[in-house]
Amino acid sequence: TSSPPASRTVGRAVRAAVRAVPAYPFTPLNVPIKLDQNENPYDFPEELKAEALRRMAARPWNRYPDLHADTLRDAVARYEDWDPAGVVVTPGSNVLIKLLTELAGIGQTVLTVNPTFSVYTLEAELLGARLVQVSLNPDFSLPVAELRAALEREEPGVLYLTQPHAPTGHVDAEADVRALTEAAEAAGWVVVLDEAYHQYSRSDYRGLVRGGPARLSLRTFSKAWGLAGVRVGYLLASPELAANLQKLVSAFNVNLLAQAALEVALEQPTYVQARVAEGVRERGRVLAALANHPTCRALPSQANFFLLRTPDADAAYRHLLSRGIVVRRQDRLHLLAGCLRVAIGTPEENDALIAAVDDLR
Ligand code: PMP
Repeated sequence: TSSPPASRTVGRAVRAAVRAVPAYPFTPLNVPIKLDQNENPYDFPEELKAEALRRMAARPWNRYPDLHADTLRDAVARYEDWDPAGVVVTPGSNVLIKLLTELAGIGQTVLTVNPTFSVYTLEAELLGARLVQVSLNPDFSLPVAELRAALEREEPGVLYLTQPHAPTGHVDAEADVRALTEAAEAAGWVVVLDEAYHQYSRSDYRGLVRGGPARLSLRTFSKAWGLAGVRVGYLLASPELAANLQKLVSAFNVNLLAQAALEVALEQPTYVQARVAEGVRERGRVLAALANHPTCRALPSQANFFLLRTPDADAAYRHLLSRGIVVRRQDRLHLLAGCLRVAIGTPEENDALIAAVDDLR
């Protein structure tokens, strides 16, 4: 069999880097207990949903929304105690990761650890950036010396530091994060502190980000706020860095429905605290319940998920699925042999998980 003529393929119209990257590897499964996407197990509160729907209905849908979601951006700035000129809002923080990769540009460097959040490497590969990954230490802490060496050796680009880390849930010593941030900035890098899960830990790097012009905190409404379906994320940066990133954001990119929902959430954010407190409590309960398992090890985490190291990830995954529980396989990742990533669910879902893992022996 011969390959089709060039005129009948996408050929050079699609860059080789894009053709080479596999589609985002995720298959949604219709299973009762969904612990595979680090979501909040609870929906947005009913009365806030009703108010958001009222506001959506009151706005004209035939008109474009606020250009850069200025009202929402101001509300985020008030909530985070940040200069509004340093806030950029997009449909999910994944979009900001794409824009940050663009900021560095084709051929420039994206530096991160291994394993890391897949979107950093995916976007780097799609853009044809120079992707440099340094192995985490076996205890999942940051390889500080190796990262410092890479910062000195490589052409400056974007450095990703994820706190708590994904997919491990590890939180590093603040002194290490600070030292790396300062070294990177001094060498000309942009430093991204991805804080998607910070509410579930005691870490909060706003103070560090305020200390320099080339640092930013990436945050999302998808996790603690329980608004993954609404798709809004944001960053906190210096006005200069934010202004440059804002140029890369396409106009009108947060739709008016999402803007209305988030304005309501930010006016009444108290529900988040109670949910985070429950998530942290449940995480402690699940980890304690699995602590004496004969073959599986639940690894400590400061996020709303944890890694379960099993003797056979495939068998464990299929066993959980047979009990109506879906988790995420991570066993092909560096350092994560046998690991499944499990989100913390409602107390009832967690009971089902504990019972199912208990039977896995
Ligand atoms: N950063 C990290 C570390 C994440 O785990 C996620 C969600 N999986 C994101 C960013 C992106 O979240 P979103 O696009 O929903 O804001």
